[in-house]
Amino acid sequence: MKALDELTFDNRFARLGDAFSTHVLPEPLDAPRLVVASNAAMALLDLDPAVAETPVFAELFGGHTLWAEAEPRAMVYSGHQFGGYTPQLGDGRGLLLGEVYNEAGEHWDLHLKGAGMTPYSRMGDGRAVLRSSIREFLASEALHALGIPSSRALCVIGSDTPVWREKQERGAMVLRMAPSHIRFGHFEYFYYTKKPEQQAILAEHVLNLHYPECREQPEPYLAMFREIVERNAELIAKWQAYGFCHGVMNTDNMSILGITFDFGPFAFLDDFDAHFICNHSDHEGRYSFSNQVPIGQWNLSALAQALTPFISVDALKEALGLYLPLYQANYLDLMRRRMGLTSAEDDDQKLVERLLQLMQNSGVDYTLFFRRLGDESAALAVARLRDDFVDLAGFDAWAELYKARVARDGEYSEEQRRKRMHAVNPLYILRNYLAQNAITAAESGDYSEVRRLHEVLSKPFEEQAGMEQYAQRPPDWGKHLEISCSS
Ligand code: AMP
Ligand code: MG
Repeated sequence: MKALDELTFDNRFARLGDAFSTHVLPEPLDAPRLVVASNAAMALLDLDPAVAETPVFAELFGGHTLWAEAEPRAMVYSGHQFGGYTPQLGDGRGLLLGEVYNEAGEHWDLHLKGAGMTPYSRMGDGRAVLRSSIREFLASEALHALGIPSSRALCVIGSDTPVWREKQERGAMVLRMAPSHIRFGHFEYFYYTKKPEQQAILAEHVLNLHYPECREQPEPYLAMFREIVERNAELIAKWQAYGFCHGVMNTDNMSILGITFDFGPFAFLDDFDAHFICNHSDHEGRYSFSNQVPIGQWNLSALAQALTPFISVDALKEALGLYLPLYQANYLDLMRRRMGLTSAEDDDQKLVERLLQLMQNSGVDYTLFFRRLGDESAALAVARLRDDFVDLAGFDAWAELYKARVARDGEYSEEQRRKRMHAVNPLYILRNYLAQNAITAAESGDYSEVRRLHEVLSKPFEEQAGMEQYAQRPPDWGKHLEISCSS
Protein backbone atom coordinates (compact mmCIF):
# COMPACT_ATOMS: atom_id res chain seq x y z
CA MET A 1 0.00 0.00 0.00
CA LYS A 2 1.27 3.41 -0.91
CA ALA A 3 0.74 6.86 0.52
CA LEU A 4 -0.32 9.60 -1.87
CA ASP A 5 3.19 10.97 -2.25
CA GLU A 6 4.61 7.57 -3.16
CA LEU A 7 3.15 7.22 -6.66
CA THR A 8 5.69 6.52 -9.39
CA PHE A 9 5.40 8.58 -12.56
CA ASP A 10 6.55 7.87 -16.10
CA ASN A 11 5.01 10.53 -18.32
CA ARG A 12 5.53 8.99 -21.72
CA PHE A 13 2.84 10.99 -23.54
CA ALA A 14 4.10 14.29 -22.10
CA ARG A 15 7.56 13.44 -23.44
CA LEU A 16 6.23 13.36 -27.00
CA GLY A 17 6.45 17.13 -26.76
CA ASP A 18 4.60 20.31 -27.54
CA ALA A 19 3.18 19.20 -30.88
CA PHE A 20 0.96 16.76 -28.97
CA SER A 21 0.03 18.63 -25.82
CA THR A 22 0.49 21.87 -23.93
CA HIS A 23 1.66 22.38 -20.37
CA VAL A 24 -1.21 23.81 -18.30
CA LEU A 25 -1.63 23.95 -14.52
CA PRO A 26 -4.97 23.01 -12.94
CA GLU A 27 -7.11 25.88 -11.70
CA PRO A 28 -8.07 25.02 -8.11
CA LEU A 29 -11.64 24.62 -6.91
CA ASP A 30 -12.86 26.54 -3.84
CA ALA A 31 -13.28 24.46 -0.68
CA PRO A 32 -12.55 21.09 -2.32
CA ARG A 33 -14.06 18.05 -0.61
CA LEU A 34 -14.36 14.37 -1.30
CA VAL A 35 -17.71 13.36 -2.76
CA VAL A 36 -16.89 9.73 -3.50
CA ALA A 37 -13.85 7.55 -4.16
CA SER A 38 -13.52 4.10 -5.67
CA ASN A 39 -11.54 1.67 -3.55
CA ALA A 40 -11.19 -0.60 -6.58
CA ALA A 41 -9.62 2.23 -8.59
CA MET A 42 -7.43 3.21 -5.64
CA ALA A 43 -6.15 -0.37 -5.60
CA LEU A 44 -5.00 -0.01 -9.21
CA LEU A 45 -2.56 2.64 -7.99
CA ASP A 46 -1.68 0.57 -4.87
CA LEU A 47 -3.17 3.40 -2.81
CA ASP A 48 -4.39 2.81 0.72
CA PRO A 49 -8.17 3.56 0.52
CA ALA A 50 -7.89 5.53 3.79
CA VAL A 51 -5.97 8.32 2.03
CA ALA A 52 -9.15 9.34 0.19
CA GLU A 53 -10.48 10.80 3.43
CA THR A 54 -7.44 13.00 4.06
CA PRO A 55 -7.57 16.74 3.24
CA VAL A 56 -4.55 16.47 0.97
CA PHE A 57 -6.47 14.05 -1.27
CA ALA A 58 -9.23 16.61 -1.93
CA GLU A 59 -6.60 19.31 -2.45
CA LEU A 60 -4.68 17.20 -4.96
CA PHE A 61 -7.69 16.19 -7.02
CA GLY A 62 -9.33 19.58 -6.54
CA GLY A 63 -6.40 21.17 -8.36
CA HIS A 64 -4.59 22.84 -5.42
CA THR A 65 -1.38 20.86 -5.27
CA LEU A 66 0.50 18.51 -7.55
CA TRP A 67 3.18 15.88 -7.24
CA ALA A 68 6.61 17.20 -8.25
CA GLU A 69 6.79 14.45 -10.92
CA ALA A 70 3.40 15.23 -12.47
CA GLU A 71 3.54 16.98 -15.84
CA PRO A 72 0.03 18.33 -16.43
CA ARG A 73 -0.72 18.57 -20.15
CA ALA A 74 -3.76 19.40 -22.28
CA MET A 75 -3.81 17.09 -25.31
CA VAL A 76 -4.69 18.25 -28.80
CA TYR A 77 -7.05 16.24 -30.99
CA SER A 78 -9.90 16.79 -33.44
CA GLY A 79 -12.75 14.60 -34.55
CA HIS A 80 -16.03 14.05 -36.32
CA GLN A 81 -18.91 15.38 -34.24
CA PHE A 82 -22.37 14.20 -35.35
CA GLY A 83 -20.87 13.29 -38.70
CA GLY A 84 -19.14 16.60 -39.43
CA TYR A 85 -15.44 17.23 -39.05
CA THR A 86 -14.30 19.73 -36.39
CA PRO A 87 -10.68 20.62 -37.16
CA GLN A 88 -9.58 21.30 -33.61
CA LEU A 89 -10.87 20.01 -30.31
CA GLY A 90 -8.54 18.92 -27.52
CA ASP A 91 -8.67 18.81 -23.74
CA GLY A 92 -10.79 21.90 -23.15
CA ARG A 93 -11.37 21.20 -19.50
CA GLY A 94 -9.31 18.19 -18.60
CA LEU A 95 -5.62 17.67 -18.00
CA LEU A 96 -3.47 14.62 -18.27
CA LEU A 97 -1.67 14.92 -14.93
CA GLY A 98 0.77 12.19 -15.72
CA GLU A 99 1.23 8.50 -16.17
CA VAL A 100 1.64 6.38 -13.06
CA TYR A 101 2.69 2.77 -12.84
CA ASN A 102 1.74 0.36 -10.12
CA GLU A 103 3.61 -2.51 -8.50
CA ALA A 104 2.23 -4.94 -11.07
CA GLY A 105 3.84 -2.78 -13.77
CA GLU A 106 0.54 -1.51 -15.19
CA HIS A 107 0.53 2.07 -16.43
CA TRP A 108 -2.39 4.37 -15.72
CA ASP A 109 -2.96 7.85 -17.11
CA LEU A 110 -4.35 10.17 -14.47
CA HIS A 111 -6.67 12.69 -16.09
CA LEU A 112 -8.30 15.48 -14.10
CA LYS A 113 -11.57 16.55 -15.71
CA GLY A 114 -12.96 19.99 -14.86
CA ALA A 115 -9.48 21.38 -14.17
CA GLY A 116 -9.98 24.80 -15.79
CA MET A 117 -9.31 26.54 -19.08
CA THR A 118 -6.72 25.35 -21.59
CA PRO A 119 -5.72 26.50 -25.08
CA TYR A 120 -8.42 24.10 -26.34
CA SER A 121 -11.33 25.45 -24.30
CA ARG A 122 -12.86 27.30 -27.28
CA MET A 123 -16.08 28.88 -25.89
CA GLY A 124 -16.11 26.75 -22.72
CA ASP A 125 -15.20 27.66 -19.16
CA GLY A 126 -12.96 24.66 -18.53
CA ARG A 127 -15.20 23.40 -15.77
CA ALA A 128 -17.36 20.35 -15.09
CA VAL A 129 -20.39 20.46 -12.80
CA LEU A 130 -21.04 18.13 -9.88
CA ARG A 131 -23.90 16.31 -11.60
CA SER A 132 -21.92 15.31 -14.71
CA SER A 133 -18.86 14.38 -12.63
CA ILE A 134 -20.96 12.05 -10.49
CA ARG A 135 -22.52 10.52 -13.60
CA GLU A 136 -19.11 9.86 -15.14
CA PHE A 137 -17.79 8.38 -11.91
CA LEU A 138 -20.75 6.06 -11.39
CA ALA A 139 -20.94 4.96 -15.02
CA SER A 140 -17.30 4.13 -15.49
CA GLU A 141 -17.08 2.09 -12.30
CA ALA A 142 -20.46 0.41 -12.98
CA LEU A 143 -19.49 -0.58 -16.53
CA HIS A 144 -16.25 -2.04 -15.26
CA ALA A 145 -18.15 -4.09 -12.68
CA LEU A 146 -20.41 -5.41 -15.44
CA GLY A 147 -17.35 -6.59 -17.35
CA ILE A 148 -17.64 -3.86 -20.00
CA PRO A 149 -14.29 -2.23 -20.81
CA SER A 150 -14.28 1.39 -19.67
CA SER A 151 -12.09 4.17 -18.42
CA ARG A 152 -12.07 4.13 -14.62
CA ALA A 153 -12.74 6.82 -12.05
CA LEU A 154 -10.75 7.35 -8.88
CA CYS A 155 -12.84 10.04 -7.22
CA VAL A 156 -15.11 13.04 -7.50
CA ILE A 157 -14.15 16.23 -5.69
CA GLY A 158 -16.94 18.75 -5.03
CA SER A 159 -16.53 22.46 -4.31
CA ASP A 160 -18.09 25.86 -3.75
CA THR A 161 -16.89 27.17 -7.11
CA PRO A 162 -19.89 28.55 -9.00
CA VAL A 163 -20.28 27.30 -12.56
CA TRP A 164 -22.94 28.61 -14.92
CA ARG A 165 -24.88 26.15 -17.07
CA GLU A 166 -28.66 26.57 -17.66
CA LYS A 167 -28.59 27.74 -14.07
CA GLN A 168 -25.83 28.28 -11.52
CA GLU A 169 -24.29 25.03 -10.33
CA ARG A 170 -21.14 23.98 -8.48
CA GLY A 171 -17.88 22.93 -10.08
CA ALA A 172 -16.39 19.50 -9.48
CA MET A 173 -13.51 17.42 -10.74
CA VAL A 174 -13.41 13.76 -11.58
CA LEU A 175 -10.12 11.91 -11.69
CA ARG A 176 -10.31 9.56 -14.65
CA MET A 177 -7.90 6.70 -15.22
CA ALA A 178 -7.15 4.73 -18.37
CA PRO A 179 -4.08 3.05 -19.82
CA SER A 180 -4.26 5.72 -22.54
CA HIS A 181 -6.28 8.85 -23.28
CA ILE A 182 -5.55 8.71 -27.00
CA ARG A 183 -8.67 8.92 -29.14
CA PHE A 184 -9.45 8.27 -32.80
CA GLY A 185 -9.47 12.07 -33.01
CA HIS A 186 -5.76 12.27 -32.19
CA PHE A 187 -4.95 10.48 -35.42
CA GLU A 188 -7.47 12.55 -37.33
CA TYR A 189 -5.87 15.77 -36.08
CA PHE A 190 -2.42 14.98 -37.46
CA TYR A 191 -3.87 13.56 -40.67
CA TYR A 192 -6.04 16.57 -41.51
CA THR A 193 -3.42 19.12 -40.44
CA LYS A 194 -1.00 17.26 -42.74
CA LYS A 195 1.68 16.53 -40.18
CA PRO A 196 2.90 13.08 -41.24
CA GLU A 197 5.96 13.15 -38.97
CA GLN A 198 3.94 13.73 -35.84
CA GLN A 199 1.37 11.25 -36.99
CA ALA A 200 4.08 8.62 -37.33
CA ILE A 201 5.38 9.45 -33.84
CA LEU A 202 1.87 9.04 -32.46
CA ALA A 203 1.36 5.73 -34.28
CA GLU A 204 4.69 4.41 -32.97
CA HIS A 205 3.77 5.50 -29.46
CA VAL A 206 0.42 3.68 -29.55
CA LEU A 207 1.95 0.60 -31.14
CA ASN A 208 4.81 0.36 -28.65
CA LEU A 209 2.79 1.08 -25.53
CA HIS A 210 -0.56 -0.51 -26.25
CA TYR A 211 -0.24 -3.01 -29.10
CA PRO A 212 3.32 -4.35 -28.71
CA GLU A 213 2.31 -7.83 -29.94
CA CYS A 214 1.47 -6.27 -33.34
CA ARG A 215 5.18 -5.52 -33.80
CA GLU A 216 5.67 -9.22 -34.55
CA GLN A 217 3.28 -9.04 -37.51
CA PRO A 218 4.48 -8.40 -41.09
CA GLU A 219 2.49 -5.14 -41.17
CA PRO A 220 2.42 -3.85 -37.58
CA TYR A 221 0.15 -0.85 -38.24
CA LEU A 222 -2.37 -2.96 -40.08
CA ALA A 223 -2.31 -5.55 -37.28
CA MET A 224 -2.91 -2.74 -34.80
CA PHE A 225 -5.84 -1.38 -36.79
CA ARG A 226 -7.33 -4.87 -37.00
CA GLU A 227 -7.03 -5.21 -33.25
CA ILE A 228 -8.75 -1.85 -32.77
CA VAL A 229 -11.58 -3.00 -35.05
CA GLU A 230 -11.92 -6.21 -33.05
CA ARG A 231 -11.91 -4.47 -29.69
CA ASN A 232 -14.59 -2.04 -30.85
CA ALA A 233 -16.77 -4.82 -32.22
CA GLU A 234 -16.51 -6.58 -28.85
CA LEU A 235 -17.16 -3.40 -26.90
CA ILE A 236 -20.25 -2.42 -28.83
CA ALA A 237 -21.59 -5.98 -28.62
CA LYS A 238 -21.40 -5.59 -24.85
CA TRP A 239 -23.13 -2.21 -24.91
CA GLN A 240 -25.96 -3.68 -26.98
CA ALA A 241 -26.26 -6.83 -24.90
CA TYR A 242 -26.44 -4.87 -21.64
CA GLY A 243 -28.52 -1.93 -22.88
CA PHE A 244 -25.91 0.80 -22.60
CA CYS A 245 -26.43 3.87 -24.75
CA HIS A 246 -23.35 6.11 -24.98
CA GLY A 247 -25.10 9.13 -26.46
CA VAL A 248 -22.18 11.01 -28.06
CA MET A 249 -20.23 8.59 -30.23
CA ASN A 250 -18.18 11.31 -31.88
CA THR A 251 -14.75 10.13 -33.02
CA ASP A 252 -13.12 12.32 -30.37
CA ASN A 253 -14.93 10.24 -27.76
CA MET A 254 -13.68 6.91 -29.12
CA SER A 255 -10.70 5.44 -27.33
CA ILE A 256 -7.84 3.91 -29.28
CA LEU A 257 -8.01 1.06 -26.73
CA GLY A 258 -11.62 0.11 -27.49
CA ILE A 259 -12.89 1.06 -24.05
CA THR A 260 -15.98 3.10 -23.14
CA PHE A 261 -14.78 6.67 -22.96
CA ASP A 262 -16.06 10.20 -22.29
CA PHE A 263 -19.41 10.11 -20.57
CA GLY A 264 -22.10 12.64 -21.34
CA PRO A 265 -25.83 12.06 -21.60
CA PHE A 266 -25.42 8.24 -21.56
CA ALA A 267 -28.16 5.93 -20.29
CA PHE A 268 -28.84 2.31 -19.56
CA LEU A 269 -32.15 1.19 -21.02
CA ASP A 270 -35.01 0.78 -18.57
CA ASP A 271 -37.76 -0.48 -20.92
CA PHE A 272 -36.28 -2.15 -23.96
CA ASP A 273 -36.40 0.33 -26.84
CA ALA A 274 -34.21 -0.21 -29.89
CA HIS A 275 -34.84 3.37 -31.01
CA PHE A 276 -34.00 4.98 -27.68
CA ILE A 277 -32.14 8.30 -27.93
CA CYS A 278 -30.52 9.26 -24.65
CA ASN A 279 -28.98 12.53 -25.82
CA HIS A 280 -31.54 15.31 -25.68
CA SER A 281 -29.59 17.24 -28.36
CA ASP A 282 -29.46 14.31 -30.80
CA HIS A 283 -32.51 15.36 -32.80
CA GLU A 284 -31.97 12.94 -35.65
CA GLY A 285 -31.17 9.94 -33.50
CA ARG A 286 -27.72 9.49 -35.00
CA TYR A 287 -26.60 7.94 -31.73
CA SER A 288 -29.79 6.05 -30.90
CA PHE A 289 -29.38 2.70 -29.17
CA SER A 290 -29.58 0.52 -32.30
CA ASN A 291 -27.52 2.97 -34.38
CA GLN A 292 -24.53 2.41 -32.12
CA VAL A 293 -23.70 -0.67 -34.18
CA PRO A 294 -23.34 1.01 -37.60
CA ILE A 295 -21.88 4.15 -35.99
CA GLY A 296 -19.14 2.00 -34.47
CA GLN A 297 -18.18 1.03 -38.00
CA TRP A 298 -18.52 4.60 -39.29
CA ASN A 299 -16.13 5.77 -36.59
CA LEU A 300 -13.64 3.04 -37.46
CA SER A 301 -13.83 4.17 -41.11
CA ALA A 302 -12.98 7.71 -39.99
CA LEU A 303 -9.96 6.30 -38.15
CA ALA A 304 -9.08 4.21 -41.21
CA GLN A 305 -9.08 7.35 -43.36
CA ALA A 306 -6.59 8.94 -40.97
CA LEU A 307 -4.37 5.86 -41.25
CA THR A 308 -4.16 5.89 -45.06
CA PRO A 309 -0.61 7.30 -44.94
CA PHE A 310 0.50 4.03 -43.27
CA ILE A 311 -1.79 1.31 -44.60
CA SER A 312 -3.18 0.59 -48.07
CA VAL A 313 -6.83 1.38 -48.66
CA ASP A 314 -7.54 -2.23 -49.64
CA ALA A 315 -6.05 -3.57 -46.43
CA LEU A 316 -7.98 -1.04 -44.37
CA LYS A 317 -11.21 -1.99 -46.10
CA GLU A 318 -10.59 -5.64 -45.48
CA ALA A 319 -9.94 -4.97 -41.78
CA LEU A 320 -13.11 -2.87 -41.54
CA GLY A 321 -14.98 -5.84 -42.99
CA LEU A 322 -14.19 -7.76 -39.81
CA TYR A 323 -16.33 -5.45 -37.71
CA LEU A 324 -19.89 -6.56 -38.43
CA PRO A 325 -19.42 -10.34 -38.36
CA LEU A 326 -17.37 -10.02 -35.18
CA TYR A 327 -19.94 -7.76 -33.61
CA GLN A 328 -22.71 -10.21 -34.49
CA ALA A 329 -20.85 -13.23 -33.17
CA ASN A 330 -20.02 -11.49 -29.90
CA TYR A 331 -23.50 -10.10 -29.45
CA LEU A 332 -25.17 -13.43 -30.10
CA ASP A 333 -22.80 -15.19 -27.75
CA LEU A 334 -23.66 -12.75 -24.96
CA MET A 335 -27.39 -12.96 -25.62
CA ARG A 336 -27.28 -16.75 -25.60
CA ARG A 337 -25.64 -16.59 -22.23
CA ARG A 338 -28.18 -14.07 -21.00
CA MET A 339 -30.90 -16.55 -22.03
CA GLY A 340 -29.15 -19.33 -20.16
CA LEU A 341 -28.04 -21.26 -23.24
CA THR A 342 -24.74 -23.05 -23.36
CA SER A 343 -24.88 -24.29 -26.96
CA ALA A 344 -25.35 -22.58 -30.32
CA GLU A 345 -28.10 -23.19 -32.86
CA ASP A 346 -28.72 -21.44 -36.17
CA ASP A 347 -32.04 -19.98 -35.13
CA ASP A 348 -30.81 -18.38 -31.90
CA GLN A 349 -30.53 -14.96 -33.52
CA LYS A 350 -34.22 -15.15 -34.46
CA LEU A 351 -35.13 -16.21 -30.93
CA VAL A 352 -33.39 -13.10 -29.59
CA GLU A 353 -34.95 -10.81 -32.19
CA ARG A 354 -38.45 -12.10 -31.52
CA LEU A 355 -38.00 -11.61 -27.80
CA LEU A 356 -36.70 -8.07 -28.21
CA GLN A 357 -39.58 -7.18 -30.49
CA LEU A 358 -42.06 -8.44 -27.89
CA MET A 359 -40.25 -6.51 -25.16
CA GLN A 360 -40.25 -3.40 -27.31
CA ASN A 361 -44.01 -3.65 -27.98
CA SER A 362 -44.82 -4.12 -24.31
CA GLY A 363 -42.23 -1.80 -22.75
CA VAL A 364 -40.70 -4.61 -20.69
CA ASP A 365 -37.81 -3.78 -18.37
CA TYR A 366 -34.69 -5.01 -20.14
CA THR A 367 -32.54 -5.77 -17.10
CA LEU A 368 -35.17 -7.27 -14.83
CA PHE A 369 -36.55 -9.55 -17.55
CA PHE A 370 -33.28 -11.44 -17.91
CA ARG A 371 -32.63 -11.51 -14.20
CA ARG A 372 -36.05 -13.06 -13.54
CA LEU A 373 -35.68 -15.45 -16.44
CA GLY A 374 -32.88 -17.08 -14.46
CA ASP A 375 -34.69 -17.15 -11.13
CA GLU A 376 -36.25 -20.57 -11.75
CA SER A 377 -36.75 -23.23 -14.40
CA ALA A 378 -37.49 -21.99 -17.92
CA ALA A 379 -41.13 -23.16 -17.68
CA LEU A 380 -41.81 -21.45 -14.34
CA ALA A 381 -39.94 -18.28 -15.29
CA VAL A 382 -41.80 -17.69 -18.55
CA ALA A 383 -45.12 -18.41 -16.85
CA ARG A 384 -44.37 -15.67 -14.33
CA LEU A 385 -42.94 -13.17 -16.80
CA ARG A 386 -45.94 -13.57 -19.12
CA ASP A 387 -47.89 -10.89 -17.22
CA ASP A 388 -45.43 -8.21 -18.32
CA PHE A 389 -46.42 -8.63 -21.96
CA VAL A 390 -49.37 -7.12 -23.78
CA ASP A 391 -49.24 -9.46 -26.76
CA LEU A 392 -49.91 -12.67 -24.83
CA ALA A 393 -50.28 -14.87 -27.89
CA GLY A 394 -46.98 -13.56 -29.23
CA PHE A 395 -45.26 -14.15 -25.92
CA ASP A 396 -46.71 -17.66 -25.56
CA ALA A 397 -45.44 -18.59 -29.01
CA TRP A 398 -41.98 -17.31 -28.09
CA ALA A 399 -42.10 -19.08 -24.72
CA GLU A 400 -42.80 -22.43 -26.42
CA LEU A 401 -39.81 -21.96 -28.71
CA TYR A 402 -37.65 -20.93 -25.77
CA LYS A 403 -38.63 -23.89 -23.58
CA ALA A 404 -37.97 -26.31 -26.43
CA ARG A 405 -34.62 -24.64 -27.06
CA VAL A 406 -33.67 -24.88 -23.37
CA ALA A 407 -34.65 -28.56 -23.38
CA ARG A 408 -32.34 -29.20 -26.35
CA ASP A 409 -29.55 -27.26 -24.67
CA GLY A 410 -28.90 -29.93 -22.06
CA GLU A 411 -29.75 -31.27 -18.65
CA TYR A 412 -29.06 -29.08 -15.66
CA SER A 413 -30.66 -28.36 -12.33
CA GLU A 414 -32.60 -25.21 -11.54
CA GLU A 415 -29.78 -24.24 -9.21
CA GLN A 416 -27.16 -24.61 -11.93
CA ARG A 417 -29.32 -22.58 -14.28
CA ARG A 418 -29.82 -19.81 -11.72
CA LYS A 419 -26.13 -19.59 -10.89
CA ARG A 420 -25.07 -19.48 -14.50
CA MET A 421 -27.69 -16.93 -15.52
CA HIS A 422 -27.31 -14.66 -12.51
CA ALA A 423 -23.59 -14.49 -13.19
CA VAL A 424 -24.30 -12.74 -16.51
CA ASN A 425 -27.61 -10.98 -15.79
CA PRO A 426 -27.18 -8.05 -13.41
CA LEU A 427 -29.78 -7.19 -10.82
CA TYR A 428 -28.52 -3.62 -10.46
CA ILE A 429 -27.73 -1.20 -13.27
CA LEU A 430 -27.13 2.54 -13.27
CA ARG A 431 -30.64 3.67 -14.11
CA ASN A 432 -30.89 7.38 -14.85
CA TYR A 433 -33.32 7.94 -12.03
CA LEU A 434 -30.99 6.29 -9.50
CA ALA A 435 -28.18 8.57 -10.64
CA GLN A 436 -30.57 11.52 -10.41
CA ASN A 437 -31.54 10.69 -6.80
CA ALA A 438 -27.88 10.50 -5.83
CA ILE A 439 -27.14 13.79 -7.61
CA THR A 440 -30.04 15.63 -5.96
CA ALA A 441 -28.80 14.55 -2.52
CA ALA A 442 -25.18 15.42 -3.38
CA GLU A 443 -26.19 18.88 -4.62
CA SER A 444 -27.58 19.57 -1.16
CA GLY A 445 -24.35 18.33 0.45
CA ASP A 446 -25.34 14.75 1.28
CA TYR A 447 -22.92 12.35 -0.41
CA SER A 448 -24.19 9.18 1.26
CA GLU A 449 -26.49 8.23 -1.63
CA VAL A 450 -23.74 8.50 -4.28
CA ARG A 451 -21.53 6.35 -2.14
CA ARG A 452 -24.23 3.75 -1.50
CA LEU A 453 -25.19 3.58 -5.16
CA HIS A 454 -21.55 3.19 -6.18
CA GLU A 455 -21.21 0.37 -3.65
CA VAL A 456 -24.32 -1.45 -4.91
CA LEU A 457 -23.23 -1.11 -8.54
CA SER A 458 -19.78 -2.47 -7.80
CA LYS A 459 -21.39 -5.92 -7.35
CA PRO A 460 -24.17 -5.83 -9.94
CA PHE A 461 -24.66 -9.59 -10.17
CA GLU A 462 -24.88 -10.23 -6.41
CA GLU A 463 -28.16 -9.81 -4.59
CA GLN A 464 -27.41 -7.44 -1.70
CA ALA A 465 -29.44 -7.43 1.51
CA GLY A 466 -31.55 -4.33 2.07
CA MET A 467 -30.89 -2.95 -1.43
CA GLU A 468 -34.19 -3.93 -3.09
CA GLN A 469 -34.93 -0.32 -3.96
CA TYR A 470 -32.00 -0.31 -6.40
CA ALA A 471 -33.43 -3.22 -8.36
CA GLN A 472 -36.75 -1.65 -9.31
CA ARG A 473 -38.18 -0.22 -12.48
CA PRO A 474 -38.15 3.58 -12.45
CA PRO A 475 -41.05 5.45 -10.85
CA ASP A 476 -43.10 7.59 -13.24
CA TRP A 477 -40.98 10.71 -12.71
CA GLY A 478 -37.83 8.74 -13.45
CA LYS A 479 -38.87 7.31 -16.82
CA HIS A 480 -37.37 8.79 -19.96
CA LEU A 481 -35.44 11.49 -18.12
CA GLU A 482 -33.95 13.89 -20.62
CA ILE A 483 -30.27 14.42 -20.06
CA SER A 484 -28.85 17.53 -21.62
CA CYS A 485 -25.44 17.67 -23.22
CA SER A 486 -24.36 20.53 -20.93
CA SER A 487 -22.02 19.17 -18.37
P1 AMP B 1 -17.53 16.43 -25.21
O1 AMP B 1 -18.82 16.73 -25.89
O2 AMP B 1 -17.60 16.44 -23.71
O3 AMP B 1 -16.86 15.21 -25.73
O4 AMP B 1 -16.56 17.66 -25.52
C1 AMP B 1 -16.25 18.10 -26.83
C2 AMP B 1 -15.16 19.13 -26.76
O5 AMP B 1 -15.58 20.28 -26.02
C3 AMP B 1 -13.89 18.66 -26.09
O6 AMP B 1 -12.80 19.26 -26.77
C4 AMP B 1 -14.03 19.19 -24.69
O7 AMP B 1 -12.79 19.37 -24.04
C5 AMP B 1 -14.71 20.51 -24.92
N1 AMP B 1 -15.51 20.96 -23.78
C6 AMP B 1 -16.66 20.44 -23.30
N2 AMP B 1 -17.10 21.13 -22.24
C7 AMP B 1 -16.21 22.11 -22.03
C8 AMP B 1 -16.10 23.18 -21.07
N3 AMP B 1 -17.01 23.37 -20.13
N4 AMP B 1 -15.04 24.00 -21.17
C9 AMP B 1 -14.12 23.84 -22.12
N5 AMP B 1 -14.16 22.88 -23.05
C10 AMP B 1 -15.19 22.03 -23.01
MG1 MG C 1 -15.27 14.34 -25.35
